[in-house]
Amino acid sequence: MSTSNGNPLLQIKGLKKHFAVASSLFGRSKTWLKAVDGIDLEIEEGTTYGLVGESGCGKTTTAKMVLLLEEPTEGEIVFDGMNALDLNKEDRRVYKASVQAVFQDPWASLNPRMRVSGIIGEPLEVNSTMTKGEIKSRVEGLLVEVGLQPAQANLFPHEFSGGQRQRIGVARALALNPRLIVLDEPVSALDVSIRAQIMNLLEDLQEEHKLTYLMIAHHLATVRYMCDKVGVMYLGRIVEEAETEELFDNPLHPYTKALMSAALPSHPDIEHEEIILTGEVPSPVDPPSGCHFHPRCMQAFEPCAGTSPVITHPVAGHKVVCHLFSDEG
Ligand code: SF4
Repeated sequence: MSTSNGNPLLQIKGLKKHFAVASSLFGRSKTWLKAVDGIDLEIEEGTTYGLVGESGCGKTTTAKMVLLLEEPTEGEIVFDGMNALDLNKEDRRVYKASVQAVFQDPWASLNPRMRVSGIIGEPLEVNSTMTKGEIKSRVEGLLVEVGLQPAQANLFPHEFSGGQRQRIGVARALALNPRLIVLDEPVSALDVSIRAQIMNLLEDLQEEHKLTYLMIAHHLATVRYMCDKVGVMYLGRIVEEAETEELFDNPLHPYTKALMSAALPSHPDIEHEEIILTGEVPSPVDPPSGCHFHPRCMQAFEPCAGTSPVITHPVAGHKVVCHLFSDEG
């Protein structure tokens, strides 16, 4: 896991993304979908932060804002002390080179008509002053770094297996020497037998290049293996956050407990009580009052439907947003 130096590389403060989804006749009033509704997090340099939650919880929209693919409605993204949302053209170019992404589906994210040399070399052609020869040797070096052969630069994506295609995606993300990589479900489209290889590759590269990862995932075993710290999202908000081992050993929020109980135990002999989550994830257009989780929560009690819970720290370094908890001490 981490090669942390203790300094935050990325800080997200009060980040919101609200989409206008409908308007009344003649557009006089708007309805808002609150995809991300005020999240705060920090990622220390050289560590991996995992954002987990069901589909539609806002984790992908958060990643898109960090990649500057979506403009936040409100809040700050601070990268290495700089406000990433208020950069001049040159600093924005540097930011975009420093913050790269590896996506879930290596089929969809690689242009099938380009040779691997073009796919990996493209960011270098656009963003650097390297000569053709320098780009060629850089591409070959990157292929070796991700466990492929230099001669494979001449092939097309369909000539590779799923795991190899994801290695190409990783090589492309590394081309500009980034400091932060957003890993958007990087192994969930791969065969189980290949997942560990890609996770080990990502860990080796993190160690080697002091990389920082923001990992978006719904697969809890992947998060547990890869991440130093985990934030659990529900309907656009982080409802619990802790160091990985603390979160998995001592989940506090009823939603986190339900997510974990729904995941298979690591061994069939391990006693496993599954908490069934009732109902669908409510619409972020019209979220439930009070605690957004209350219609599905088996522990809901009197204040939950009417009052929003605030952040508490019942254990040092462990945040939870739930009326069942108060600050330690
Ligand atoms: Fe459940 Fe209430 Fe806690 Fe929300 S605040 S998670 S409804 S107990």
